[in-house]
Amino acid sequence: MRLQTKTIHAGVDKDSAFNSVITPIYQTSTFRFEDGKTKGYDYSRTANPTRTALEENIAALEGGLRASAVATGMAAITTTLHFFHSGDHIICTHDCYGGTERILRTYQELFGLEVSYVNMQDLSAVRAAVRLGTKALWIETPSNPLLNIVDIRALSDIAHSHNALSIVDNTFLSPYNQRPFELGADVIVHSTTKYLNGHSDVVGGAVVVNRLDLAERLQFLQNALGQGASPFDCWLVLRGIKTLVPRMRIHEENARAVATFLESHPNIKKVYYPGLESHPQHGLARRQQSGFGGMVSFEVDGGIREVNHVLRSVRIFSVAESLGGVESLISHSVSMTHASMNPDLRTKAGINERVLRLSVGIEDPDDLLADLDQALAFKTTVKVPNHSFAVGV
Ligand SMILES: *Cc1c(COP(=O)(O)O)cnc(C)c1O
Repeated sequence: MRLQTKTIHAGVDKDSAFNSVITPIYQTSTFRFEDGKTKGYDYSRTANPTRTALEENIAALEGGLRASAVATGMAAITTTLHFFHSGDHIICTHDCYGGTERILRTYQELFGLEVSYVNMQDLSAVRAAVRLGTKALWIETPSNPLLNIVDIRALSDIAHSHNALSIVDNTFLSPYNQRPFELGADVIVHSTTKYLNGHSDVVGGAVVVNRLDLAERLQFLQNALGQGASPFDCWLVLRGIKTLVPRMRIHEENARAVATFLESHPNIKKVYYPGLESHPQHGLARRQQSGFGGMVSFEVDGGIREVNHVLRSVRIFSVAESLGGVESLISHSVSMTHASMNPDLRTKAGINERVLRLSVGIEDPDDLLADLDQALAFKTTVKVPNHSFAVGV
């Protein structure tokens, strides 16, 4: 089966009692034993048929051996960190998701995990950061919010030459646009809250592995940590995934239109979209991805006044965190999605107060362009100050 067929059929057929075409919501905590035996399920923390359906579906989409569906993307990341021991060293991309940095910092403090942050575009810097206890490379591409692209194949080769795991957060592109296992990754994490569910009505996560030892460990952790997603949330994500392919196609078409429009707009200083030829890693994105996704970031030509003007003026774009839903969102990285990130790391990652991030939805593109056009109709009054200013969004 090809990916588009798998989105609709993989793992779905679970009802032998009535042959329902759609996986039922098995909203039960426990399962009856008959003559001392179960039918494969005994308690929903350990496993639940609706969750299994979603796990089989996501594992099939990524081409992995097993997936674990958990309550949030952060639960997926936390679960994955339990592959490691105190004293183990992880090399993390310097512009990772803010919540990833926060939990890594917490596990450093609580459990003595060791973490180095490296700009993974610089492969020699990654090689230089490897040391005796290095057990994993934590990769995220495209990055948030500046959409930097790093080379999954080259980074996985570095990881494997030191017996370390290559872990990829594949949230921003989904398996439709990027297949990390085919590029050498060992573990994939997802926030299914985003493109996989696609409808902004659930928070969820998934860990996918393609090695038997990791699959066994993952199953142990699902039961031991108790982070499994609820049957209803699994059912919603399973339903969302059925339209992943047509949604991703329209997200990308619209994102391309928005990025092209912004690039020629006089009140825009810079546009970040891997699909633009002007993007510094456009060639790598073209080789490594099968599309460029629906996220576009830009810097307003001005200061916080202009940023606030845009945020107050948009009508179709909602000012909100998160991404990957059918509706268009706009967010201010410094005061919203990256507010909890260590400010030094944030500055080093190049995220300044002028950066706005769009999750381009699947509305009519003409309406999206008209909305941005009216929101960007300001006269620049502040000319790009270099100092930090107080942010009030
Ligand atoms: C949103 C997100 C997460 C965290 O997922 P939640 O579902 O919000 O817990 C992790 N990684 C990336 C890249 C994300 O965008």
